[in-house]
Amino acid sequence: MEENLEKTLLNKKENGWETIDDSKKETIFKFTKDYMNFLNKAKTEREFIVEAIKMARENGYKDIAEFERLNPGDKIYFINREKSMYLGIIGTESIEKGLHIIGSHVDSPRLDLKPNPLYEDTGLAYFKTHYYGGIKKYQWTTIPLSIHGVIVKPNGEKVTVNIGEDENDPIFTITDLLPHLAQEQMEKKLKNGIEGEDLNLLIGSIPYNDEKIKEKVKVNILNILNQKYGIVEADLQSSELEIIPAFKARSLGFDLGLVAAYGQDDKVCAYSSLVAMMTLNNVKNTAICILSDKEEIGSMGNTGMESHMFDFFISEILNKLEINKPNLLDKVFCFSKMLSSDVDAGYDPIYSSVSDKLNAGFLGKGISLNKYTGSRGKSGASDANAEYVAWVRNILEKNNIKYQIAELGKVDIGGGGTIAYILANKGADVIDCGVPVLSMHAPYEVTSKFDIYSAFETYKAFWEE
Ligand code: MN
Ligand code: MN
Repeated sequence: MEENLEKTLLNKKENGWETIDDSKKETIFKFTKDYMNFLNKAKTEREFIVEAIKMARENGYKDIAEFERLNPGDKIYFINREKSMYLGIIGTESIEKGLHIIGSHVDSPRLDLKPNPLYEDTGLAYFKTHYYGGIKKYQWTTIPLSIHGVIVKPNGEKVTVNIGEDENDPIFTITDLLPHLAQEQMEKKLKNGIEGEDLNLLIGSIPYNDEKIKEKVKVNILNILNQKYGIVEADLQSSELEIIPAFKARSLGFDLGLVAAYGQDDKVCAYSSLVAMMTLNNVKNTAICILSDKEEIGSMGNTGMESHMFDFFISEILNKLEINKPNLLDKVFCFSKMLSSDVDAGYDPIYSSVSDKLNAGFLGKGISLNKYTGSRGKSGASDANAEYVAWVRNILEKNNIKYQIAELGKVDIGGGGTIAYILANKGADVIDCGVPVLSMHAPYEVTSKFDIYSAFETYKAFWEE
């Protein structure tokens, strides 16, 4: 009797692994193996979009421009400048009843090259960088780094760069001071230990063999770049080259239960929502999957979620359904429901003092929902309505999906945000809903395979509702 009462009344948050059988575990391991393989090919926003287009086309999705008019069941996508993408399936229900949107981001913290990056100092050549997103700078020194991105020449010719990933490629690194001479550095605050202007990438050391040349190592590097990519120094001004960890995604732990990889914020949610969308066939409400860019620097710019590009995509759907009329776009947004699929701060027992244990997202306990984010008294948060939280809970509970409702950390300890508020501002019901991560924004981030699969199950169930 007592036991039953406990079971009925208490919100017990079980370890997900204890709730599944061997065949489910196998399904989870298969899913996350595919995820790790995907991550190894899609380490930047541009690379993610290339892989997403391939996956979408293999599953019958076509560019919305290829359609004259749209009908229920049609599978569409729209590419925004190779860095963000929206996908959709037209539902059988009138679109005026609203969209079911899942939105993640495919950019991750990193170091970008400055427009004039190349210099030589005492026989060593370097690229200067400007960090992108919130990083702890000291974490980016003395690890193997690779260079990914594009260089565009004035004639429009585009060179794709990916160097440091293949076993036969060289890698690059940012050096740090030896402990023997670091007395002064070690007295500094952690955030000042490595300065932003010192995040310079070591890229070469052999001089060009010509007496008359002044900067021989720099010229040698430019000569190599010219032979390899057909570029000159000025072309680096119109490039987007990103310095990211050269690590591969790997299983972590003797039991293989975790994933360690770069860029899981937010490619873990981007991947699991993308794959969930690929499993859909007929949906009632029009299903939309957003893979946005620039979230890590505030979602600004024309590939960020603040841009009107998304409105344009939905307007195009309304045009091609041949139902568009004044204010319809607003109406569609106001009746829409959204999961903002971004990662959550996982509870880390080593740093337990920053979390409220009752309200933290734990690794292995399933998808983590944040009713609100923000900081200092929920400032800047899009706080989901209780009615909507209940609606989402109902989907999770009837599909037997493990979930936890959490906060980012203790009150007044810090905070953060996602793209949730942007869609909420358009009138949609939105809640943050993603995978808990350890070492978020570090070169190597950690997630639980159980949670990754529960994210996939959540996104699929939401769209199938
Ligand atoms: Mn994120
Ligand atoms: Mn982030």
